Amino acid sequence: MKRDTVENAFFPITVNPLLKGLISRFDKECPTDGNLLLNSLKDFLGAPVSLCPTCRHISRRIAKPFYELGSRFLRVEKEFMRNQFLNQEYGEAWLRGFGLMMKGVEKFGVRVPFTPAGPFEIVWNFTYQCNLRCKHCYENAGGAKRPELSTEEAKQVLDILSKVAGIGLPALSFSGGEPLARRDFFELAAYAKKHIGYVSIASNGTLITKDNAKRIKDSGIDYAEISIDGATPSVHDDFRGIPGAFERALEGVKNCVEEGIDTCIATTIHRDNLSELGKLIELSKQLGVRFMHFNYIPTGRAKAYVELDLTPDERLHVLETIGKEIIGLYLQAKEEELKSGKSNVKVDRFFSTCPQYASVMRELSKRFGEKFMVEAHYAAKKGVESVANFLGGCGAGRLYCCLEPNGDIKPCVFFPTNKNTVLGNMLKDNFEEIWDKHPLLWKLRIREKLEDYIVDGKRVGCGSCPDKYICGGCRARAYSYFNGNVNTPDIGCIHNKPLWEKIVGNKR
Ligand code: SF4
Ligand code: SF4
Repeated sequence: MKRDTVENAFFPITVNPLLKGLISRFDKECPTDGNLLLNSLKDFLGAPVSLCPTCRHISRRIAKPFYELGSRFLRVEKEFMRNQFLNQEYGEAWLRGFGLMMKGVEKFGVRVPFTPAGPFEIVWNFTYQCNLRCKHCYENAGGAKRPELSTEEAKQVLDILSKVAGIGLPALSFSGGEPLARRDFFELAAYAKKHIGYVSIASNGTLITKDNAKRIKDSGIDYAEISIDGATPSVHDDFRGIPGAFERALEGVKNCVEEGIDTCIATTIHRDNLSELGKLIELSKQLGVRFMHFNYIPTGRAKAYVELDLTPDERLHVLETIGKEIIGLYLQAKEEELKSGKSNVKVDRFFSTCPQYASVMRELSKRFGEKFMVEAHYAAKKGVESVANFLGGCGAGRLYCCLEPNGDIKPCVFFPTNKNTVLGNMLKDNFEEIWDKHPLLWKLRIREKLEDYIVDGKRVGCGSCPDKYICGGCRARAYSYFNGNVNTPDIGCIHNKPLWEKIVGNKR
């Protein structure tokens, strides 16, 4: 990936000034037609859009050739863009993502990976309340009451998010704690859906009765992610701290499926449930839901169970197991397309929050004679394989950030909450100023700042890794193992095994 390093050195003095100038020509608010940045993209993709003569002129003469060249350069198929931005239910979220990307280029220039003018997604740890006592809770939820935003204050936050960078937030996920433990959850979820393109919930599932599943659906939530940490009650309940949690969570999944909600089983894989992985994948297939592997990070309550963290070899096994599922679906889709010209197979069904997924998938797909890549670190889509380095693995403080129940802003939910990681507060500070300027965010965004070490005469670490532009390592894991230094190596990666052995190996 030397090319990415060279591009990052030359872009600021070569292409960036030109691009910034060009985009500023059509990043305009028209009093009659609204935002020309988004309207010109719709126009380029052939959507019927009303444009005044001035806007039409700029759209056709400046924006169109720009989009034409840009999509060719990134090798993103126009048909893919048309499908995502215009035809699908979540077109609004995709359009906003695109708008933030263009404004990001205008503000910060092109970099690999790139930084948009605002996050594509925010995970809101919406409450500290929880009815379970999970060993690995990153939020240390439950216990004594801590201050949270009121309903009206939470609406103010949503108002701010709906206008981020003059475009608006594409996607918001309510997490916690348990979001359903707050009485005003449905009111706020419905409010969020009116202002944000794509809204989801991450829940322990135990409170998702038939009635609540219907309310989730009615409030407009697009996606429900339910934590299941074992394929059997004993494994799940032991980890979640409350007997009966497994049965209720499973009911929650089934209730969501019955309501027609896009549903996912999310499993934090650690040493005590690693052997359940195959059964969990089967369970997700039986239930017809997606499967998300959550990377175990020793943070929050999980800090006390650091010995549960997977070794680099175990993590590689998990990622290859999930990757093979995706590749199976990909090949199935490809075969159908060859036979009939189209396929309804949904490839993006197995995810991981582990940024090495991109690197593992690339190697795995080569073994199958394919060139298949995951987009960002947890999604896989056909048609955007060549932009993996642009999207760039770990998105902490770059593609995404997190909010605490009191409105505090952090780069990622897996960062501990302290004076070094809290970037500001949604109601007390200016979110855009934080996004544009905070030094911690810029530390996380520049891959050339990643560090390495010499181990037994060899250079080891994300800093010297050729895959740093598509992966970058989990910065929360680096923070956790290296006492707050976010640029250190992710020692859970197979490439950094010598470091893992040096730091952890002897202690186990
Ligand atoms: S060494 Fe770091 S950047 Fe490279 S693949 Fe591993 S975690 Fe990712
Ligand atoms: S630090 Fe990065 S890779 Fe790790 S969980 Fe957060 S966003 Fe994902």
